[in-house]
Amino acid sequence: MESNAEEQTGSAASVFHTERLQEVLAGLAASRAEPREVEFENSLRPRSFEEFVGQRQAVENLRVAIRAAAARGESPDHVLLSGPPGLGKTSLARLIASECGSTLHSTTGPALERARDLVGILTKLKRGDVLFIDEIHRTPVTVEEYLYSAMEDFSVELTLDQGPDARVLPLKLERFVLVGATTREGLLSAPFRGRFGVLERLAPYPDEDLIAIVVRSARLLGMPIEAGAAQALAARSRGTPRVVNRFLRRARDLAQVSGEAKVSSATALEALRRMGVDEHGLEELDRRILHCLARSAARPIGLKTIAAAVGEAEDTIEDVFEPHLLRCGFIERTSRGRVITRSGCAAIGVEPPGAAARADLSA
Ligand code: ADP
Repeated sequence: MESNAEEQTGSAASVFHTERLQEVLAGLAASRAEPREVEFENSLRPRSFEEFVGQRQAVENLRVAIRAAAARGESPDHVLLSGPPGLGKTSLARLIASECGSTLHSTTGPALERARDLVGILTKLKRGDVLFIDEIHRTPVTVEEYLYSAMEDFSVELTLDQGPDARVLPLKLERFVLVGATTREGLLSAPFRGRFGVLERLAPYPDEDLIAIVVRSARLLGMPIEAGAAQALAARSRGTPRVVNRFLRRARDLAQVSGEAKVSSATALEALRRMGVDEHGLEELDRRILHCLARSAARPIGLKTIAAAVGEAEDTIEDVFEPHLLRCGFIERTSRGRVITRSGCAAIGVEPPGAAARADLSA
C-alpha cells in the first residue's frame, strides 16, 4: 500500500548538502546530474516491504515493530536508519508510512534552521503521521533539543518574544512517528540516539541483491537486461542501489540509441566505459583522490587537504567516496590522515610509495 499522501516540508535554504550528495551519487554514473533524476528515482522505489530487496534483518525488525504496535492500537516507536547514501533509507521511511497507513512528511536536518521551522511542522502532524528527517545528524543543536520533548512527551514549549516580555507557550502534539536517516550515526548525541526505539543500520548490498534490484528496475523501465549485463552493472555499483539504477539508466539509453531491444553485456560494459567507471567501480573523483594520496609519498594526508586537492566538499568525500575506497582496501585511515595502500596504487596503475607497501604488509 502506498502512503496516503506525502508532504515536503522545511525551508529550501539549506537542503544544499542533501541535494549535493544526491547529485554526486547521480554523478558517479554521469558527468552531470539530470533534472529528471528525482523523478526517475521515485519511479523505481519499492512500493512494499516485499519489493524492498535485501537488508532482511532490518526489514524484519521494522515489520515486527509496526505489526506489534498495530496490534496494540498504537504507532510504532521512533526509528533511526543509518548507513551511506543511496542504500534505501528514504525508501524505507516511505514504506514505514505506507505500512502504517499514515501520511509521510519529509524534511532534512539542515532545513530545520530555527526552532520555529520544526514547531511549524510538528504542530501540523496528525495522529500517527510519520515525520521523516533526512540527514538528521545535521539538525542544529538548538532545534534538536525541541525534538527531545516532542519525541518523548509529544509536547513542545515555544518561547515567544525575548527579554522581560518572554513567554513560554506549551504546545501539545499529536502522537507521531519520527523516522530519522543519517549517514553518520556517530555524530548523533547519546541523548538524541537514545530517544529512538528502533535503530537499524543499512550495509552495502551484496552483488546478488544488486542484480535483483537492477533486474526489477529494468522490468519497470520496460527494457529487459541480460544476466551478464546485470552482473556487470551490479559488480561496479559500490554496493549501492542508487548507483546501480543510474548505471542501468545509461545502459538503457545506449541500448535504445543502438536499436537494441534489451541491455546486453556488451552494451552494459560500453556504458560503464563511457561513464569512466572501472572494474572496481571507481570513477573519476575516486581516482583523483587516489592520485592525490599517491603523490604524497606515503605521508598521511588530512581530509581538508584531499578536499582542496580534488575540489570536493569534505563531507561528500567522507560520506560518498571514502567508504568504497576503504572497503576495497585502496586507502587506510590513520590517526594522522589517509594513506594509499599497495592495492590502491595498483588500481590506478602507479608505483606504491614505501609506506603504502609497509601498511599492506603489516595488515
Ligand atoms: P537513501 O535514502 O539511503 O539515500 P533511497 O531510499 O533514496 O536511499 O534509495 C535510492 C534509490 O535506490 C531509490 O530509487 C530506490 O528505489 C533504490 N533502492 C534503494 N534500496 C533499495 C532496495 N532495497 N530495493 C530496491 N530498490 C532500492
